[in-house]
Amino acid sequence: MDAQRVIRDLRELQSRTATADGAQRLAWGPVWRDAREWFRGKIAALGLGITTDSAGNNWVTLPGASAKCVIVGSHLDSVPNGGWLDGCLGVMAALEALRMHAGTTPPVTLKLVDWADEEGARFGRSLLGSSAAAGSLNIEDVRELTDRQGTKLVDALAENGVAIDRMGNAHGELKSIDARAYLELHIEQGPVLESMNKSTGVVLGTFGVERHMLRFTGQAAHSGSTPIAMRRDAFLAAAQTALACREIARRHSTPGAGVVCTVGIVNVEPKIVTAVPGVCEISLDQRALDPAVLAAMLGDAREAAAAAARDNNVSVAWKKIWSIEPRPFDPHLLRLCEEAVREETGEAPRLPSGPLHDAAEMVPHMPVVMMFAFSSNGLSHCKEEDTPEPYLEKTIRAYLRLVEKTVASVASA
Ligand SMILES: [Zn+2]
Repeated sequence: MDAQRVIRDLRELQSRTATADGAQRLAWGPVWRDAREWFRGKIAALGLGITTDSAGNNWVTLPGASAKCVIVGSHLDSVPNGGWLDGCLGVMAALEALRMHAGTTPPVTLKLVDWADEEGARFGRSLLGSSAAAGSLNIEDVRELTDRQGTKLVDALAENGVAIDRMGNAHGELKSIDARAYLELHIEQGPVLESMNKSTGVVLGTFGVERHMLRFTGQAAHSGSTPIAMRRDAFLAAAQTALACREIARRHSTPGAGVVCTVGIVNVEPKIVTAVPGVCEISLDQRALDPAVLAAMLGDAREAAAAAARDNNVSVAWKKIWSIEPRPFDPHLLRLCEEAVREETGEAPRLPSGPLHDAAEMVPHMPVVMMFAFSSNGLSHCKEEDTPEPYLEKTIRAYLRLVEKTVASVASA
């Protein structure tokens, strides 16, 4: 087990695929392809090869004594000007897990996966490769996507040997694997571990999301001549709702089970300094790990918006943008993860994941767990992204322990 080698690989990848502004491994582009080519060399050095599934995900198989399979991995693609750990930390740690068994026949089969286009930074659809493998990708939703340069996704895929109409076949390919566990190491990308000064966290699952647009409609009126009591101010109703939703999130948060909500978009009409806003539209994004809590938060938000509308003599209409149910991780793998983290670091803080990850797509299909590494200043998707090296080393070692524990557990099951 050589955590330093993992860090050396990460630095090597960084020097090859990052500029002074950060990582540039945008999915389906030349730098990403180069990163994958570099990685192919690392795999070849182990005497192994890479196969690519119908959705462009890269797989490495180390056959074991049993066809029962433990999958390790993450993604090599990055956002533009991204960090040196997001995604590739999980792939390089998975590489080290394979290295530990290369040249031997492990008790169960080990597979490494490098998911294609986790970030969705170019075409706007995150988890593209893993959702195709999970069977949750609707091709019609992505067929017409284009990037900022006007390049169509279908053409970018074709340039990389992926036929959009065959992407769905990746699901059958995944189903043909006797997968017993999926283990992903990732940088936290948030401030929670840092706030506890803990190097490593056990991830309970990924948050469910309820995302809606709320449109408040009152009456635009002159800001000088309309007395306060006679206004139908749509913005104030929206603002009152936003504040109420923050209280709702506070109320539903318990220690170790925090929830979040965000109003990220505010549009007012007529947007004139001398007019009472007649219309105000806000976005509301609510997230929680417990489905009952998420449902309660949404119900409370509906009540709060209705009350705010009444208070301001306006109406409110809701429009759903998107939702996904919470994806809690496997209880047995959570126990193994906790053991591994505790053995390596002395304690095992648990936290949910606010961002989605490829691991979330695997939850309906196999037992899954993730481990998080400390994020300096909570920053990610930027060149400042970092984990202090002693923390990084501990976390990599904890992850490799988790892989070993899982292999042993699956072998004896
Ligand atoms: Zn990532």
